[in-house]
Amino acid sequence: MRAMNSLLEATGTTIFTVMSALAVQHGAINLGQGFPDEDGPDAVVAAAAAALSDASLGPTRNQYPPLTGVPVLREAVAAANRRFYGLEIDPTSEVVVTSGATEALTACLMALLNPGDEVVLLEPTYDIYVPVVKLLGAVPKLVRLEPPGWDLPRAALAAAFTPRTKLLLLNSPMNPTGKVFGVEDLDFIADLCVRHDIYAVCDEVYEHLVFDGAAHIPLMTRPGMRERCARIGSAGKTFSLTGWKVGYVSAPRAMAAVIAKAHQNLTFTTPPHLQRAVAVGLAQHDDYFAAIGARLAAKRTRLASGLADVGFVPLQTRGSYFVTADFSGLGFDGDDAAFCRFMVERAGVAAIPVSAFYAGEAAPRDYVRFAFCKQDALLDAAIERLARHFAPRRLTRSAQTA
Ligand code: PMP
Ligand code: GLN
Repeated sequence: MRAMNSLLEATGTTIFTVMSALAVQHGAINLGQGFPDEDGPDAVVAAAAAALSDASLGPTRNQYPPLTGVPVLREAVAAANRRFYGLEIDPTSEVVVTSGATEALTACLMALLNPGDEVVLLEPTYDIYVPVVKLLGAVPKLVRLEPPGWDLPRAALAAAFTPRTKLLLLNSPMNPTGKVFGVEDLDFIADLCVRHDIYAVCDEVYEHLVFDGAAHIPLMTRPGMRERCARIGSAGKTFSLTGWKVGYVSAPRAMAAVIAKAHQNLTFTTPPHLQRAVAVGLAQHDDYFAAIGARLAAKRTRLASGLADVGFVPLQTRGSYFVTADFSGLGFDGDDAAFCRFMVERAGVAAIPVSAFYAGEAAPRDYVRFAFCKQDALLDAAIERLARHFAPRRLTRSAQTA
């Protein structure tokens, strides 16, 4: 048979699926793939169930909804933009509802890139960014943030721009680092985008999952960015309903029109009852949004301090579902992938090797990512397993190979 798509043929299964499968195989506690282990808000789940059979929505309530999303959700996305960030977004022409942020990212990249265009990305990157950029024939330009501080390397970022640069992809709050970009960094990035006249695609799926008084600031709110930014949100993260796959893009009219064309070629629409329920979610009181951050912050602290007791060095995380931790103090002889395999098989806890978020050469090999969006009892049980395995002796070579 003839060769199929060379990039996809060469692509492995995502690390999240690999580690989840290993967790099942070994009966391990899964702190790898980022998903909560409890349901989203009752009102939102009930709204989805009700929308399936709500006679007042008419007999077409379960048929194809409008291409860019049901009006009630587009209005809710616009209202959330105004409420949280003071952004005025036209619900009829500047919102595109997608099947998750994953589709939104692909649709935005499809809409904005031609083959040969360069895309500036901050590494570590979320797993789909580089493959999708390459599938579109565009060229990733990676700028690396270094642990433990994950500071923005401003000179390297500025140097990554060339006349072929078409867009910058920014993830804040950032997976896997937990970094929340502050206003000075955002303004530095905005200035580069304006000076080079490029687009920005902003993956803000963790926008409401911020801790310690950190404020999430969309790049779109910074000077010169309103007309060149596509901002992506995810109901999966905001409402702890990751399986629903409802995402939403807010973008200026001209960009939204082309993003809608990409969406038309990808999935065309997103299940209507879930869209209606997410509209109910986005209308929740401010207290809901404040509470999810506060709840997760407590879980972050619980897991990070447990990891520190075991001998890991957890890095600061101010947003997202994740904490990254340096395991080099445990004396393990091997890289992060080997360590994760060892941990899932022997200690019964699954995590994600941070090198999986690097496409460039010489990725850091001493860090693993743990998800803390789990019930406290599960986090405690994971720490207990790790402590039982690592703390008493800190790994010796014989324990590792036993
Ligand atoms: N971007 C980032 C940074 C993520 O961590 C994820 C994973 N949930 C996504 C996008 C995908 O979001 P969704 O599940 O809505 O497709
Ligand atoms: N975003 C999730 C994570 O980073 C995983 C999503 C997926 O499995 N594709 O863990």
